[in-house]
Amino acid sequence: MDVAIFQTCFRQFSHLGAWIVVMIVGFVYSQERISGSPIGIAIHGGAGTILKENMSPEKEEAYRSKLTEALLVGYEILKEGGSSLDAVEKAINILEDSPLFNAGKGAVFTNSGTNELDASIMDGKTLNAGAVAAVKHIKNPISLARLVMEKSPHVMLAGEGAEVFAEKQGVKPVAQDYFYTARRWQQLQKVKAKEKSAAPDQSTPRGSQSKSEKFGTVGVVALDREGNLAAGTSTGGMTNKRFGRVGDSPIIGAGTYANNQTCAVSATGHGEYFIRGVIAYDVSALMQYGGLSLTEAADKVIMEKLSAMGGSGGIIAIDRDGNIAMPFNTAGMYRGYVDGDGNAVIRIYRD
Ligand code: ASP
Repeated sequence: MDVAIFQTCFRQFSHLGAWIVVMIVGFVYSQERISGSPIGIAIHGGAGTILKENMSPEKEEAYRSKLTEALLVGYEILKEGGSSLDAVEKAINILEDSPLFNAGKGAVFTNSGTNELDASIMDGKTLNAGAVAAVKHIKNPISLARLVMEKSPHVMLAGEGAEVFAEKQGVKPVAQDYFYTARRWQQLQKVKAKEKSAAPDQSTPRGSQSKSEKFGTVGVVALDREGNLAAGTSTGGMTNKRFGRVGDSPIIGAGTYANNQTCAVSATGHGEYFIRGVIAYDVSALMQYGGLSLTEAADKVIMEKLSAMGGSGGIIAIDRDGNIAMPFNTAGMYRGYVDGDGNAVIRIYRD
């Protein structure tokens, strides 16, 4: 063979060889990076005066097993390489369909005996968000919030308009009866009776409930293999609420927030305080601008700021490394996360 032809062939092959090596190294590296990337998920089912002495073993077990079921559905999605948004939505759907929680099926009653639901979801990658407020015929408000985020140019839709949008998106409405549970109905009667017997200046004109009442909102935060954070919150609001009251849960920055640069947060508690304290965003801002760790930021906002304002409740939060914080200033908070071995860890009381 001519030497020049041989040299040209050799050069071509060595180029090709170099490319193959680069591609193999790149592939192996990306596989390692993917399998080494942390995933994580945390859940809450409301905060409040949740005391062991008021809880039967059966009731406690029912809460634990429903929270575990929801957590593991979300975790499985993440483990399979699914998105944090899917994990958040699907896990919340399970709690919305359970009468145990104040979201979807177990929603609390308003002063006029209706159920009005709020929910929001946020994508930490794009900072896109969707929310619905005061909807009355939506079985799974978190899924409608996601449709608002993905299928409309808006962030928040409220009341009838949100329901028209739902119909256009093919979401079947449910009758108000669907949300009835005897337990929540009795809860409303109790609050109303207390209100009647209270002196006029001690009544709760804002439609709030006494501090001894439990809350019961649900929320999930998650981190997927791509490093994307997401947060979602769904609620029936507060028992005996009036005049179209909307809480913090559907308000981005108050009850829900996610930003890949910092963390994902979902809140539960007395919404008026969370709105005024811009609680969820505050945690992210302390990390982004103040350089605080997730735990430092979350503790500061709940244990110092919210408490000083007189507000009660808690948050769940996860950062981009998969660290989790779940501070609350009430007696208890239904909460949980999945540990490094893939096991659900559920906590209820301050233990
Ligand atoms: N934060 C909700 C609201 O104020 C209530 C709750 O968390 O249970 O509507």
